[in-house]
Amino acid sequence: MMRIAKYLKPYLPLLAAAVVLLFIQAYANLSLPDYMSHIVNVGIQQGGIADAVPEALRESQMDSLTLFMSEDDARRVLADYQLVQPGDSQSNRYLSEYPALRKEPVYVRRAINTAEIAAINPIMGKAWLVVAAIEQARNNPAMAEAMGLPGAGAAAGAGASDPFAQLKTLPAERLSRIASAVDRKFASMGPKMINQAATQPVKAEYAALGVNIAKLQTGYMLRTGAIMLLLTLIAAVTAVSTGFLSARIAAGLARDLRAAVFRTVEGFGAGEFDKFSTASLITRSTNDIMQIQMVAVMLVTMAFYAPIIGVGGIIRAVDKSASMWWIIALAVATLMVAVLTVYKVAVPKFKLIQRLLDRLNLVSREALSGMMVIRAFNMQPHEEERFDGANRDLTSTMLFVNRVVVGMMPFMFLIMNGLSVLIIWVGAAQVSRSTMQVGDMIAFMQYAIQIVFAFLMLSMMFIMLPRAAVSAGRVADVLETEPLIKDPSSPESFAPGYDGTVEFRNVSFRYPGAEEDVLHDISFTAGPGQTTAIIGPTGAGKSTLVMLIPRFYDVTGGEIYVGGKDVRAVNQHDLRDRMGYVPQKAALFTGTIASNLRYADEQASDKEVESAASISQASEFIATLPGGMKATISQGGVNVSGGQKQRLSIARALVKKPPIYIFDDSFSALDFKTDANLRRALKEQTASSMVLIVTQRVSTIKNAEQIIVLDEGRIVGRGTHRELMDACSTYREIATSQLTTEELA
Ligand code: ADP
Repeated sequence: MMRIAKYLKPYLPLLAAAVVLLFIQAYANLSLPDYMSHIVNVGIQQGGIADAVPEALRESQMDSLTLFMSEDDARRVLADYQLVQPGDSQSNRYLSEYPALRKEPVYVRRAINTAEIAAINPIMGKAWLVVAAIEQARNNPAMAEAMGLPGAGAAAGAGASDPFAQLKTLPAERLSRIASAVDRKFASMGPKMINQAATQPVKAEYAALGVNIAKLQTGYMLRTGAIMLLLTLIAAVTAVSTGFLSARIAAGLARDLRAAVFRTVEGFGAGEFDKFSTASLITRSTNDIMQIQMVAVMLVTMAFYAPIIGVGGIIRAVDKSASMWWIIALAVATLMVAVLTVYKVAVPKFKLIQRLLDRLNLVSREALSGMMVIRAFNMQPHEEERFDGANRDLTSTMLFVNRVVVGMMPFMFLIMNGLSVLIIWVGAAQVSRSTMQVGDMIAFMQYAIQIVFAFLMLSMMFIMLPRAAVSAGRVADVLETEPLIKDPSSPESFAPGYDGTVEFRNVSFRYPGAEEDVLHDISFTAGPGQTTAIIGPTGAGKSTLVMLIPRFYDVTGGEIYVGGKDVRAVNQHDLRDRMGYVPQKAALFTGTIASNLRYADEQASDKEVESAASISQASEFIATLPGGMKATISQGGVNVSGGQKQRLSIARALVKKPPIYIFDDSFSALDFKTDANLRRALKEQTASSMVLIVTQRVSTIKNAEQIIVLDEGRIVGRGTHRELMDACSTYREIATSQLTTEELA
């Protein structure tokens, strides 16, 4: 995977944008359970009252509260409120909201920030609870006794006089004792529970002020609900955006990789093609890159999202209930065992699938391209069996892997639901002990599920990654292949002009990995305006020899000069620009006849194209085709005969008008008459060029200026037809076997 990481570079800005969006998405998703717990805790249970710092309270109530605060605290709380007297200039503003203001003075909270509210909340919260407890104690003598209230016993009971009036007269030391007695009562409650308990007296105070409590509660619910809706919207928008970005990154990466593979393969010499088979190169640039693309989408969205959710979820869950962390740990541990099991079972199979896929491709390629031969030999049942075998293996392995992965799903849900049950079980006990709020328990449950989900996402990725890593490795193998044939670092350029001289100096050659040289000590010069022929039995090394001239392979000994330059000293492009190479196996491309002929020179005029076709004896059959020059050539040129293909391939080289022509056995599929006509016409067009003809047919080259006889990679004779007939026994053998006595003369 790392080997292709550099191809991600252009997408780093997009990736950064995706990560930012993922953070926002995670934040929104993690906030939702929190707001939900607010709705349950504050909205439902506390009647929409969030804390112990009311927006307004009667002066009499404030006086009672401050009794149970230190002097500093009381000063701080009072500074945050403003006293409004009935009938003063401010009162009209608040009258509709707090009708009690008509009769008595009211403290209205100033515009203080949330930090200040949070700071005075515990101070007021405790005071509220103490005051509420004392209120309760008015009707409960035992409680009053326990708290050490003044006049307990005597004054207790229904209709007792206002205890606060008496309390005010007590020394501070007595008061603090009362307060700490109440404190003890609430000792088991955390600050959150104290806050929640304190909202009850706050609610009662609002009622006393004449505030519409139902409206207050509905308002809180609607506000929180609106925020949750907004968060959901943000989460949705960011999810869609990251999906879009990840698709873009992955598709772009795949496109770049495909282009890079194609470019690299274009630079491959014949040696590299021998190493990677064509089928494998195709699989690598399609299927393998597809795998990488799929995992890239997952990586972008999950690799960042899962850890954010995981860590964020844990922080928030522990904040909701620190005592239940072990439930999450238990769930994650169980999942880990399950995922590891799947990993162990499925991942080796994933690798196997890739290999089986290769085999299926191979079998079907062979069967499809050799279908005629298969039919001719009546081997269909055998091929079917072979295909069935490969197909069955692949199917059963895929089924196995899918069963394992699918079987994992119910197990995951079992764990998730078990997790919820366990949280409710443990949480309910805590709720009943008043150590936890209901909303927090529900939020904890949602966080736990999010954490488990994040963990699942990560583990899924670890299961998918090895498969993509295999593909990435296969692609990187191609990309990192240094072509054996490279352009020189400081290339020389050809002298201007039309020099087609080719010179071999003591050339020897061995195929990469072969044990023996195919060519030994070859030296000859082929001059412009001449036809040089190379003849010899099959396997003598004729094709190998001519492939060295366009540098399809590099010589392993000696040098080859073209136009006076060593072929390794000039750019491959410049070198090949000077040549019209007609290979043994003519290859045409999908398109029309004209587009194939203009392959080397798009600008060639109709006249030039037609003249090339006429020299190569192709005009006649082109005229018989529907559409003539515009007739379509189907894939690989299968809709024209072998001889027609050769003629078109020769015409294609002629349109280029290069100083060097190389015909590698290009006349073999032509009948003798066409062969002769073609050579005559060719002679005129190529008068000043160097023509190199490889052939096994003596008649084709009888008039060549120079004939080189090759046998087992060595030159065994050189000269004209006549000279060789006298001097070279190998040539004589070939010639006498092919020509009549008259022709030999
Ligand atoms: P000719 O064209 O004279 O029939 P070739 O030049 O095609 O002969 O082949 C010469 C020898 O080189 C043969 O023995 C053949 O086995 C070997 N040869 C051809 N192509 C390759 C290759 N790509 N890798 C290894 N050996 C090869």
